Parts: sequence; C-alpha cells; structure tokens
Amino acid sequence: MARIVLKFGGTSVGDIDRIKNAARKIKAEVARGHQVAVVVSAMSGATNQLVKWVSEVATLPDPREYDVVVATGEQVTVGLLALVLQQEGVPARSWVSWQIPIRTDGAHSKARIVDIDTTEMARTMAAGEVPIVPGFQGLSPEGRITTLGRGGSDTSAVALAAALKADRCDIYTDVAGVYTTDPRIVEAARKIDRVTYEEMLEMASQGSKVLQTRSVELAMNHHVRVQVLSSFDDALGSDLPGTLVVDEEEIMAQGLEKSVVSGIAFAKDEAKVTVTHVPDRPGVAAAIFGPLAAANINVDMIVQNVSLDGSSTDITFTVPKADLAHAVQRLEQAKADLKFAEVKSDLNVSKVSVIGVGMRSHSGVALKMFETLAAKGINIQVISTSEIKISVLLASEYTELAVRALHTAYDLDAA
Ligand code: ADP
Ligand code: ASP
Ligand code: MG
Repeated sequence: MARIVLKFGGTSVGDIDRIKNAARKIKAEVARGHQVAVVVSAMSGATNQLVKWVSEVATLPDPREYDVVVATGEQVTVGLLALVLQQEGVPARSWVSWQIPIRTDGAHSKARIVDIDTTEMARTMAAGEVPIVPGFQGLSPEGRITTLGRGGSDTSAVALAAALKADRCDIYTDVAGVYTTDPRIVEAARKIDRVTYEEMLEMASQGSKVLQTRSVELAMNHHVRVQVLSSFDDALGSDLPGTLVVDEEEIMAQGLEKSVVSGIAFAKDEAKVTVTHVPDRPGVAAAIFGPLAAANINVDMIVQNVSLDGSSTDITFTVPKADLAHAVQRLEQAKADLKFAEVKSDLNVSKVSVIGVGMRSHSGVALKMFETLAAKGINIQVISTSEIKISVLLASEYTELAVRALHTAYDLDAA
C-alpha cells in the first residue's frame, strides 16, 4: 500500500463530467488499497474570470483583496469533488486552506508555503477518508487568505505530498506527460519518460507551464517523486504511464542515454524594461534593483550596455508582464535619486530557452542556437545562461518559428 497525492488541474475538473472522471481515478486508486489525498484546481477558465473581475474594479488592486477573490475558484471544485466521491461510496471531505491550515508567508498573490499541518488529515486518511484540498490557496501570518501565483496548485500538491511523506505525487493534466517542448505548439514534440529535477526546474522556470516552478523546487528539496500524466487517458497513475521527475542518479542508474539538450521552453509573460542614461558609478545597479526587490518583483534577464561616453549607461532587464506597471512606478519614484533619463518598456518580447544537463559536458550548444536563429533571420535582444540552459529574448512574433527550428536543430523531433 502506498500513500499518494493526486492533483487535478483546471481542465481535469473543467466540468461535471471531468470531475466525475477524476472521481473514478481516485476511487480506482483507493480500490487498490492506496491512501489517497487529492488537490484540485479551479475549473479551467474560472481563475481567469476572477482575475478579470478584479481588474475591472481596480488597476493596482490591494493584493489581499485580490487573493480573497481569486482563491474562490478552488473552493467550488473541492466541494463538488467531495460530493461526487460520496455518491460513489468513497468517504471524502473537502478542506479549505485555513482549516488545515496551509501556512504561507505574507507575499500576497505569490505566497510561499511555510508549513502544512497534516496531523488531523493523516488521521482521517488512516481511517479511510479521502481529503480534498484546494490548490493555490494558503493562510498568511496575519490570518488572511493568500494565493501562490498562477499555476500554484502544483505547488500545493507537492507541498502536501512532502508534508504527508507520500510515496508519489501524481499531477493529472491535459497532456500525457512532460514533452521536449509544448506539444500544443510543436507537433513533433516527444514525451519524455524520465526527466531530472534540475532540468524540470529550468524548463518550468523558463516557461514550460506544465508544472509551476516552485513545485519542482519543493519536489527537488524534499525528494518527492512527481509524475505528470493525462487525466484524459485510461491509465492509472499507479501504472506509471506518465513522465517521472526524479534524481539524475536514478536516470544514470538505468543506463538511459541522455541527449545534450532535453527540452526547449518559451515564455511570453515577461516584459523588457530599459532604464536609459543611468550614471555609470558604483551602487547604481543596487539602487535600481533594490526598489524592485522591495516590491517583490522578480527580475530575470539583465544586461548592462557599455557606457558610450564613460559617464552613463543603459540597463535592460525583464520582469513579469503582470508586474510591469508596479516596476515602472517604483523606478519613476526613484528617478530623482538615480538621475537616469527615462524608463522604456516593451511588451512585445518572448524568451526562448534550450535546456539540458548534457550541456555541462558538451561545447557548441550555444553556437548552434545562435546559428539556427540567425539562419531564420531572428534577432537576439538579450542572452542569459546557466550551467544547463541558454535563454534568448526575441520579438514575440518569432516565438513559434524559433522553437520549431531549435527543436529540429537539436534532434528532438519525434521520428
Ligand atoms: P493544468 O490546468 O492541468 O495545471 P496547465 O495548462 O497548467 O494544466 O499545464 C498543461 C499544459 O502545459 C499543456 O496543455 C501544455 O500546453 C503546456 N506545456 C508547456 N510546455 C510543456 C511541455 N514541455 N510538456 C508538456 N506540456 C507543456
Ligand atoms: N486556479 C489557479 C490558476 O488558474 C491555480 C492552478 O490552476 O494551478 O492559476
Ligand atoms: Mg497548471
């Protein structure tokens, strides 16, 4: 008997039929003798609608009230799923974040989970009840509702699996696993059977939204075995039909041949900001990025252009599109001190990344990327690298073209 956490994403609970389908999978795992806890998302589209309503009443909403509104989608699905399971004769109950509680920090709309008290839940599971837990939501130190950022139900599921010391966390979604790139964009994308935590972390943070980045971070730190699989297929999680996210050693131990590049990711949710004519002196970068950090805004790619006149320089970086208004506001407030000329922003950019642990031991990976993009006439605006990834920023109309060309260039196309 294993203890498993099953997570169902938005499309997997998108209507009553899909919720019944999820219930069948849960019932089948319970019938095999497993102890099961379930995490669900809001019905697909529900969270977008809630976000839209908030934006219709406030341009820079109070994040605490934003969270109160957008966390409600998950409360509908936990209740509905518990009801369906009860009709099916499976003892089940819904929980909401403050009842458990799922404690987070106070960073509203992008909170981090700090602790999940599973004492009572573990007791009810041992007694044969299936807990149905809302993804995405938590409880702040001030006792208010928080949310974990878009896609945050994955993180709720992995955190719950870690807290419950579960044997596995099955992430049911609308594709059969993790692919070499988004299968909805590139038809030739291939399903990967096993991917390392590290690669998955880069893929997720570079835009492969199949798993939220923090969920992979948590899985890696707590050694949670994660499986990504489709709720639209018949196979059950316990038969391992999906992609397993595991330690590199486990893949090596099986003697599986690793390709140099395992995947291509892309992200359209970043905006480019350029601060022009910044005085070229020590402390300036800290003065620019300090206010952004204080506002909890994540800066990703950064380039400081060469100083043409020796006295001033331009600094270019990217921030999430959702944070652009806040970022520009913070920079404008700092303008008097910083004495730069202006803040320019560009929403028409995408980031494309090639990822693979094999890059550590192979050279020429970056060159191939640059040559492939050049051959398609695509201009690179910003470059950033890590040990196992190379990212470039380009005009967003070239995203699909770039991803397809790179997928072919690195021999990832399905046969
Ligand atoms: P859920 O609602 O179940 O959380 P998401 O929409 O968040 O589902 O994530 C699943 C989607 O992730 C897929 O439909 C697919 O379009 C997208 N995706 C992006 N990159 C990848 C990838 N490398 N492998 C698989 N799916 C990917
Ligand atoms: N419902 C939330 C969202 O749409 C969380 C999730 O689905 O993971 O972002
Ligand atoms: Mg998701």
